[in-house]
Amino acid sequence: MLPSAHALLDMEALTHNLALLRRRAPHSKIMAVIKANAYGHGAIPVALALTDADAFAVARVDEGVSLREAGIHQRIAVLQGFISTVELALHSRFDLEPVIHSALQVDILEAAALDKPVSVWLKLDSGMHRLGFGVKEFSAYRTRLSLCHSVRQPPFLITHLANADELEDNATQCQLDLFSDQVAGLPNERSIANSAGLLAWENSLAEWVRPGIALYGASPFPNRTAAEDGLRPVMTLRTRLIAIKHLKAGDAVGYGGDWVCSRPTRMGVAAIGYGDGYPRHASPDTPVLVGGQRVPLIGRVSMDMITVDLTECCQAKVGDAVTLWGEGLPVEEIARHAQTIPYVLLCNVTPRVKRVVRG
Ligand SMILES: *Cc1c(COP(=O)(O)O)cnc(C)c1O
Repeated sequence: MLPSAHALLDMEALTHNLALLRRRAPHSKIMAVIKANAYGHGAIPVALALTDADAFAVARVDEGVSLREAGIHQRIAVLQGFISTVELALHSRFDLEPVIHSALQVDILEAAALDKPVSVWLKLDSGMHRLGFGVKEFSAYRTRLSLCHSVRQPPFLITHLANADELEDNATQCQLDLFSDQVAGLPNERSIANSAGLLAWENSLAEWVRPGIALYGASPFPNRTAAEDGLRPVMTLRTRLIAIKHLKAGDAVGYGGDWVCSRPTRMGVAAIGYGDGYPRHASPDTPVLVGGQRVPLIGRVSMDMITVDLTECCQAKVGDAVTLWGEGLPVEEIARHAQTIPYVLLCNVTPRVKRVVRG
């Protein structure tokens, strides 16, 4: 019997996507971004499957420690780095590579007495204005790091693009120009591109690229699907039909009763809801696959269940597989119906949803 809400993980799709991204950036090493539990897929299974990645990136030091404890041996960058001596010591002990973005971090590094130095990624704020040193201070901090005995030389140089998903936006070219000004002539390895940079901005490719969302087979672009770039979905979110009911015209369905049958309706109940990470704001026409056929969501999403219109899907029966997104139903499409982005849908899949590695 098909289990209740579960996320099927297609690790062949994952390695296919990595190989495809490698072909798109043939001269770059790939740092696979697996923060936030690998965008909801499971950081450890994903890291174990990506044997071909040159490095990984996580947001926080504890995410890096968990990967080391699971036996991951590749390089691991920590995008937020540390804000205390204790956290710096964890980087050194577990061979994690902090991003250095603030004066506080440089002070901590200079005052530290580490058993072994750390490799670091020095971050320029080239226009996103979130983390990183501004252009006026960047080279001074680069000099300080180059003299710091706690730092393995030479530091890597990194920046992050704020608008790379907008192909018409000239902010990206401004960021690229600013970064290349700051690093001109330096021998240090560099990293700029996220998924959107890798796929759309050829001059953002450097020694290192940092794809996240594209690895999971979802698009970073608002008006494009990952399939158009040849990427395959890694996660297929599935559940099963648990009830079918015959309603008459005028019957209201679900909380608030805001969806009212306009005709006699064969309604199905599927065992998934916002308690699993299915978006509560999915609009009433959001597509759902029942036995391979698209049917519309009706009524409000509740915590453990959704309701769908099976009137045009007469062969559907209790126990049938229901797909919410993934193979056959792009997550980009569901994101549009829920007025959000694929990143949010993938990250929000809750721990109750069992991750099942396919095959
Ligand atoms: C999350 C993140 C990435 C990956 O972004 P995607 O859009 O998922 O490819 C790359 N670099 C940094 C600094 C990030 O925070």
